[in-house]
Amino acid sequence: MSDFKRENRYIVIKRSDLEGAVSDLPIKYQKKVWDQLGQVVSMPNKHRQNTGKSPLECVIVEHDWPEYDYVWKAIKHRMETGECLFEQQQARIAKLEHKVEKYEATLFAAGAMGQSPCFKCGYNGPGYYQPGQHPCAAQHHAAIQLQEAE
Ligand SMILES: [Zn+2]
Repeated sequence: MSDFKRENRYIVIKRSDLEGAVSDLPIKYQKKVWDQLGQVVSMPNKHRQNTGKSPLECVIVEHDWPEYDYVWKAIKHRMETGECLFEQQQARIAKLEHKVEKYEATLFAAGAMGQSPCFKCGYNGPGYYQPGQHPCAAQHHAAIQLQEAE
């Protein structure tokens, strides 16, 4: 069962929103707001420093960015399993890429590129067997040469 709960742990202000809001104020108040904000912002930084913590660094992901739901999913996964979803997925992708490379090598060795369109990239144009025009052709020729040498 999941007991993961999203927490409201940070106060985040987008600079452009703040700059826009402050610029709407009469000029005589703008400097005062920036000075006071500077003092407020420095307080937690000093507190962190005084308690031996490193400066806080964060990545902000806005709710309308395509990464938003994925980041929440990744945090939930780490909180529930102790494991990093990104690292797990990167390892899975690397393993799958390795498998694909092995299958492609097997297909090249079997002469699968002999029939167009190319099984690897779908190319079906002029210079099909010319590596300068169609990079897969280099793998095709290398695999065929290896077959002939054996
Ligand atoms: Zn190709």
